[in-house]
Amino acid sequence: VWGNQMTDTFEAKGKRKKLVAELKQKGIADEEVLRAIDNVPRHMFMDPAFLIHAYVDKAFPITSGQTISQPYTVAVQTSLLKVKRRDKILEIGTGSGYQAAVLAAMGAKVYTIERFRELFIKAQRTLTSLGYSADFFYGDGYEGKPQYGPFDGIVITAATPAVPESLLQQLKTGGRLVVPLGSSDNQVMTVVERTGPDSFEYSQHGNFVFVPLLKGTVNGK
Ligand code: SAH
Repeated sequence: VWGNQMTDTFEAKGKRKKLVAELKQKGIADEEVLRAIDNVPRHMFMDPAFLIHAYVDKAFPITSGQTISQPYTVAVQTSLLKVKRRDKILEIGTGSGYQAAVLAAMGAKVYTIERFRELFIKAQRTLTSLGYSADFFYGDGYEGKPQYGPFDGIVITAATPAVPESLLQQLKTGGRLVVPLGSSDNQVMTVVERTGPDSFEYSQHGNFVFVPLLKGTVNGK
């Protein structure tokens, strides 16, 4: 259906336009976010087994038992970050690299951390071949990347019961951290805005389900 997974086609472009229309209908209003989703070929981030579903608004399995986030979820998290061009954004949970590519397409300076070595390598390869630039790190996202901070935005793309304190400390004043907070089977999308050196404001933005944020790294073979 798609020919080579690493080429974009009229068919894929058409499906992306439909996906963008669907996201608008579901309430995504940020034009920059919609434009980025229109531009990034999600099929290039999919496991080949699920290729034909690339423009279905659902999460799908990738390697290492992880998932590529649902486009709607990526759109919500990205909208909540309020990304401006050249903002420094830290992502915890690179996964397929799709969210990182959407941020890069919006002109953000992206730093992304993944605890599975295999995914770290694969995502880096995918973004490079698409011409998007981002800084990739293999490691435990709980620690963040203090040497590259502070950040305008931090997005955690895995579920956690509590925001890691070290990440809050890597936010600029005025910066926003977006995280699905809750139990393993249901989380509330939460924005933590740093309003001063010691003040943080929380707001809630609906229910989601993510794979868990876990400590340590997995080297595979
Ligand atoms: N943003 C991804 C979604 C990936 S799913 C995408 O667009 O495809 C969440 C990812 O977070 C998984 O790949 C998982 O391995 C990773 N993860 C979980 N805990 C982590 C941690 N402590 N540090 C870094 N990555 C982590």
